[in-house]
Order: sequence, then structure tokens, then C-alpha cells
Amino acid sequence: MDNNKTREDVINHSPQNTEEGREELYLDALKRMAQQNADDGRYRLTGLYNLKAFFYVGSEMMVKNPDSRFGVIVMDISQFKAVNEFCGRKEGDRMLTFIADCFRHYEDDRPLTCACQVRADNFCLCTAFEDANELTEIAVDIRRKIDEFPFAYRVLPSFGICASDDNHASVSYLKDCATIAMQSIKGKFFAEYAVFDDDMRKKMLQEKQVENDIVAALKNGELTAYIQPKVNMHTGKIIGGEALVRWIHPERGLISPGVFIPVLEKNGFIINVDQYIWEQVFAFLGKMKQEGRPLLPISINVSRVHAYDKQLCDTLIQLSEKYDVPAEYTPLELTESAFLADETGMYQRMKILRDKSFKISMDDFGTGYSSMYMLKSQTMDEIKMDRIFILDLENEKSQIILKHATAMLLALGAKVIMEGVETEEQKRLVLECGCENAQGFLFYKPMPMEEFDALLRKQEQEQ
Ligand code: C2E
Ligand code: MG
Ligand code: MG
Repeated sequence: MDNNKTREDVINHSPQNTEEGREELYLDALKRMAQQNADDGRYRLTGLYNLKAFFYVGSEMMVKNPDSRFGVIVMDISQFKAVNEFCGRKEGDRMLTFIADCFRHYEDDRPLTCACQVRADNFCLCTAFEDANELTEIAVDIRRKIDEFPFAYRVLPSFGICASDDNHASVSYLKDCATIAMQSIKGKFFAEYAVFDDDMRKKMLQEKQVENDIVAALKNGELTAYIQPKVNMHTGKIIGGEALVRWIHPERGLISPGVFIPVLEKNGFIINVDQYIWEQVFAFLGKMKQEGRPLLPISINVSRVHAYDKQLCDTLIQLSEKYDVPAEYTPLELTESAFLADETGMYQRMKILRDKSFKISMDDFGTGYSSMYMLKSQTMDEIKMDRIFILDLENEKSQIILKHATAMLLALGAKVIMEGVETEEQKRLVLECGCENAQGFLFYKPMPMEEFDALLRKQEQEQ
């Protein structure tokens, strides 16, 4: 049985008709699943239930107590790896055993409660409650115990809590919701816990909808590449463009990439979407070349997920050959996070691609944490300064930063582009600071490829 199925899924599709018979069947399926997948159903070091057994025990508890409301608390420790690395495995094990005992305490002392160790540093608890505050009190109590215990290394537990509204939610659904709540505060030192709320529920539904619709959208041609021109602010001429994906949904209209790209980066489908957009760009440039027109570079965005994409170089080289477009006309825009995800992988791939004449463009410069290190360790052909540089340019400090950052980037031999120029005043100040290229609504918004093509034809005639 599929782990993600809800209790309703199983019940609705079962051949039995009586409520009792259906629930029996559901529990049976869960039990078999637990037995098949989980030796004795317990985590070896701590003796807590493992996930499969937890789902079984939790579901049984919920089904047998239909009048109770249940909630799930999940807990994860930031940087648990560091405990093993700096203090040794023994200290790591001591810590996990202590934490497991904190959870077991509730399993033993609270009615209708079961605890589980999902992974080494990830625990959860399912419990019946009358008042949802009981759940936050449990989280606070466990956090206090961990804080007070004398470990050699201070760890940071984050908790996510989901209290069911009704008694029909499955334990795995409650755990998913609690995990979403927990992820919203991960790494935030002062946030102890987060409770799954309506905003998170809306976001989760939106993400589910994107996940459901995107495959068909790609097949039905709802995704398309828009191009935003890049200009030289001295001459006003278009010097290139950037391809930006747009989802034109038959009912919901234009959906911005900010809504769907993060979801696709989570499930990996961004790789397919990127390739689809790249192909449109290569085809566009290939056609221009066939028509004997001068080519301008159109950069393509390369998601950080490609750090794990072993086919990345082959895909790009093949596209360049298929459409007979020299690689230098499709600069690759990457953000720093692409290099952080799988450091060696991305550096190696960029080296191969640069050797094949692809240009590397650093996107959103100034928003990352280690931009200076990146500049030293990776040759960049183009650097796109993020619009945060110009959001308050009337501030003298901002002008100093922009001026010197531009001078530094130019001295490193990169082409510099200012992103997000919206006003004449910004244009003037950016020019004054020594940066002559820009991309922004003041000049052009992203537009369909045909419109961009028409602009280029006009410019070609004027030359
Ligand atoms: P980005 O690569 O930094 O792209 C520039 C974004 O700034 C675009 O947003 C563009 O519409 C917006 N922009 C341009 N000029 C202005 C301006 O003057 N003011 C303001 N406020 N915004 C301006 P968009 O198209 O919504 O894309 C957002 C981000 O989504 C992109 O940021 C990029 O990271 C990602 N993205 C877009 N298309 C693709 C794609 O095909 N593949 C991948 N992997 N990511 C993409
Ligand atoms: Mg970009
Ligand atoms: Mg950018």
C-alpha cells in the first residue's frame, strides 16, 4: 500500500461496505505494511517506534477512538551532524537516547500517545488532546529538557505542531502538516515551535495544485518563454535578453515563476521545465541565424537543482549543436546557491561548459552570503547586480556601495548588468556609478518571443 494514501483513500476504495469492515481492512493493510517494511518496528538505538510502525499504531489509536481529537508534534535538530563530527558518535548517541527518553516519557504517561524516531535526529509524537495548547506545552517542555541537559555541544531543536480539526485526518497527513510548520522556522534560533495554520494550509494546497497540473501544462504548451531585453543605457540599444518562463494557465491566467518554480525545485521537475525553455531559446536563435541576421546573446536560467543533474553539460552541448547556435549566445544565469548545493559538481560542470564556450553569468549578485568567495573561485563572464543595490539609491551609503562594487566587478573582467531599473533617477545614478548595462521595467518588461523578435528587427533596420 502506498504510504501517502489517506485513511479516506483506502476506505473509499475498499470493497467492503460497512464502516467497521472498511476500517478493519484499512488497519490490516497498515499492519501488513508495518510488518513487511519494519523488522521489529523499532529504532535500534532508542527503541522508539520507527515510522512505519508509528503510522500503524497511530492509525489504530485514531480509528479506535473516533471521538478524540489528535495532533502530531515533529521535532528536528539543526546540525546534528556536527555533534557526531565534533564530539564523536558516543556523545551523539547519548544525545539521541536522552531525547528519545523525553518522547517516551509522554508515550508512557499520557493516554492515547505514541512516539517515533523518523531518522537519527528527527522525532515525532502523536497524541490525543482536548485543548490544542497541550501540544505546545509538550514541545516547550521537551525543548527545555534538551536545553538543560549537559551535552558537550549545544543543539537547536525545532518543533512543528499540527492539531487536527476533525477526527478524519490520517496520522501521515498530520505529520506532513506538522513538518511544513517546522520547516517554516528551521534555523531560526529564537523560534521554538510553529503551529500549522491556515496560511500554511493554503500554501500547501497551492503547491499540491502546481505539482498536479505542471506535467499536463508542459504537454499542453501552457509554459512558454518570455524574453526581457537587456540594454546599454548610454545608447538605448538592446544588447541581449533573458529568457523567463511564464505559465499561461487556461483558467488562472498568467502565473508568475515565483509561485511555481520553488515547488518544481522541490520535486525536481524544474529540470524538465528548464530544458523546455532552453530549447525554445536555441530554436529562436537558430532561426535568426538561418535568416542571416546578427545574433544577440539570450541568457537562460539554470536552476540550482542542476547541481545534481549529471546530464547538464550534454543537454546544453546537444542543444547548441542541434540548432547550430554558438554556445556564447546562450549565457547561463546561475545563482550562488547552485554552487553551494553540490559544490564540486557545479564547479566541474561550469568548467566543462566554459571550455565549450558557454558564458557564465552570476545572477542576483549581492543577495548571497559568500559572493566574494564565489568571485575568487569561479570565473564569471557576466555579473547581474541584484535590484537591492538600487532600492534606496538616494541614500549616500547605497551609492558608495554601488559605485565601488561596480568598479570591483569591472576590474575582475566581468560584464556588469544592473537588474530592476525602474526609474529615470535610478538610471542616472547607476550610470554615474559606472554601470552602463541594465535590465528593468524602465526599458522593457518581459515579453513574448514574437514581440522581442519584432524589436530586434526594428533595431537591425536602424543599424
Ligand atoms: P531572475 O533570473 O533574477 O529574473 C529577473 C526577474 O526580475 C524577473 O522576474 C523579471 O521579470 C524581474 N524584473 C525585471 N525587471 C524588473 C524591474 O524593473 N522591477 C522589478 N520589480 N522586477 C523586475 P520573474 O520573471 O518573475 O522571475 C523570477 C525569478 O524566477 C527569476 O529571477 C529566476 O530566478 C526565476 N526564473 C524565471 N524563469 C526561469 C526559468 O526558465 N528557469 C529557472 N530555473 N528559473 C527561472
Ligand atoms: Mg536570471
Ligand atoms: Mg536576477
